[in-house]
Amino acid sequence: MAVNEVVYQEIITALAPAQVTLVAVSKTKPAADIQALYNLGQRDFGENYVQEITEKQPVLPADIRWHFIGHLQSNKVKYIAPFVHLIHGIDTEKLLREVNKQAQKQNRVIDCLLQVHIAQEETKFGLDADELAALLQQVTQRPDEWSHIRVTGLMGMASFSEDTEKVRNEFRYIHSLFIKHQSITNTNCQLTTLSMGMSGDYTMAIEEGSTMVRIGSLLFGKRP
Ligand SMILES: *Cc1c(COP(=O)(O)O)cnc(C)c1O
Repeated sequence: MAVNEVVYQEIITALAPAQVTLVAVSKTKPAADIQALYNLGQRDFGENYVQEITEKQPVLPADIRWHFIGHLQSNKVKYIAPFVHLIHGIDTEKLLREVNKQAQKQNRVIDCLLQVHIAQEETKFGLDADELAALLQQVTQRPDEWSHIRVTGLMGMASFSEDTEKVRNEFRYIHSLFIKHQSITNTNCQLTTLSMGMSGDYTMAIEEGSTMVRIGSLLFGKRP
């Protein structure tokens, strides 16, 4: 079976009490697997690669909410701007400006999460606390320049580590930044989504305040 229905129902049950949103991460998996999970009721799907998401989107149901969760290059924003529901990995002002520009061309507003660098070794992507504060200030102080994006939250990837206390501390760190900046109530910046937690650490992420988990291999099996 391409999709693990039992695990899917278990995850849905685990997320329900805290009303956490499940993004099913379908990167490298065929459209048929996405359709199978869609048929069970899933609507939010996450992809990492521009080429893959743009190939899958037109052949799958129109009411799927497509999340772009990978590292996005500015020159590729235009390909996903017509349909993307939420971009999780905004890590520079330049990229956010490009999203704003391409959203304007599409006559729409695109929701974005700012990616915070929480895992020390694994990835070089993401903003540190000062860069995050600076970008939030940029967006809130010049709302007229950012009329086609909304910053709706933060995203982080914890270390891929057996050291659960380390992972927990990384979740706590981004959660503290999320809480800190929740005092911002701006028309195009209001932090309501905290995207953290994957197959290996989602239960801990929920304990630490996640509102959105991104789960791939548990649902679709291991990737090549
Ligand atoms: C691949 C990926 C996931 C899902 O990872 P799994 O361990 O398969 O659940 C989540 N978030 C991001 C950013 C990813 O690249």
